[in-house]
Amino acid sequence: MRPSLLPLLLIAACDAPHASRLSRALALRAGQSFHAVPPESAVRAPVRARPTRDAAIGERAAGESSVAAAPVATVVPLGPPQVLVAFADSVVLAPGDSSPLSVSALDGSGRVVPLASVRWRSLSPRVAEVGPWGVRGGRAGQATLVAEGDGLATRVDVIVRAMVRGRVLDVDGAPVAGARVRVETGALRRDLVTDASGRFALDDAIAADAGVRVDVEPAATAALHAATARVFADDADRLNVVLLPTDWRVRGGRYDGTMVPLQPSAAVPRGGGFARMHDSPSEPGARVVGWPTSRLPIRLATAADLSSLDTAAFWATARAVERDLGMRLFVPAGADDGGPRAVEVRVGPTGGADAVTHASWAAGGDVDDAEIVLSASSVLRERGVVAHELLHLLGFGHNSAWPSVVSPGGSRAPGWLTAEDVAWTQLLYRLRETQARERAPFGLGAAIAGTGTRD
Ligand SMILES: [Zn+2]
Repeated sequence: MRPSLLPLLLIAACDAPHASRLSRALALRAGQSFHAVPPESAVRAPVRARPTRDAAIGERAAGESSVAAAPVATVVPLGPPQVLVAFADSVVLAPGDSSPLSVSALDGSGRVVPLASVRWRSLSPRVAEVGPWGVRGGRAGQATLVAEGDGLATRVDVIVRAMVRGRVLDVDGAPVAGARVRVETGALRRDLVTDASGRFALDDAIAADAGVRVDVEPAATAALHAATARVFADDADRLNVVLLPTDWRVRGGRYDGTMVPLQPSAAVPRGGGFARMHDSPSEPGARVVGWPTSRLPIRLATAADLSSLDTAAFWATARAVERDLGMRLFVPAGADDGGPRAVEVRVGPTGGADAVTHASWAAGGDVDDAEIVLSASSVLRERGVVAHELLHLLGFGHNSAWPSVVSPGGSRAPGWLTAEDVAWTQLLYRLRETQARERAPFGLGAAIAGTGTRD
């Protein structure tokens, strides 16, 4: 809206028979045209000065023949805006789609008048978001938009319809094409196939409160596990799934190139295991606990009262753990070097153990705080204990599913990272990174639930 163009004036069509109603100045040069603003105003025809008349139309009374004989435009005064009229009473959108917003002001005679300013807002921003693009659909549901300007207001109802669509990716983020996707919701059952970009979409409209089950079955040659995702319909337009590989080839370190078979359920046995899962109440799918990429390498601050020889031994072990994992994970941090809060390594109560590691995490399974507590400074020289605590620090729990440095204890503990420990650590950190980057809620939990769709 550009109110500097003719405030409080309405430009009527050319050759209107009301020359005597000219009341304000409108200067147009020959050939220059002027469009009513906004474009959906009651006046559709633009005003155009005739080429033969170079003079401005002035403030002239009726009867001045030079103007009245051949009017270029009729200009009438308008009253103040009395009502706002939106472009539509209601809008139906798919999630992620957008529609422009516009509103007109009418005076008491029903004529369009310029509006000094207009502001749109959504009463349900999670369903319908207002921005430079207009209104954009979010979650399935209903929302009301309010437009306000010049002391007036109007409303538009927005319906964002439920849709089933998503993407299937591998753990490196590459699309998985040709995967079979079975969608079941209510009585509806459809088999879809992912396209070259890994995408699938159900054309059918579904009820907004329905439960949706999606089974993803990759081609047998893909060496990927199947996955099953269950959501309510208002989350079903973001069914992005990362499929786990059936085997992992270790990348770097002493096990470089070793092929490790991966059974998803082994990482999360009942009662807890290597992978710890965080169920976020606001997101479908359960996330594996770990450090977000933005916090890697993890800053470690060793307490000042630890012996410097013990601290040096600790760092030598930490570097050896990094080498075998093929990942850059730990960096020394000073007490107040200005970075994010560091993980403290200190002597303190351990409940009888050589060492304990505490970690806390937030939504999405992102670790946000941790500490390593030792029974004595000398524990830093015990490579197996330090490696065990560093895997806890990475977010992993005790594990009996394979020989592991984080086995709950006892003489069968191998005392160092095994190929399985390395394969699962590499896989789960890659999985977390890909899930975050690709906004994919489904990963390990969906693989454990995965039953496939082969009849
Ligand atoms: Zn432990």
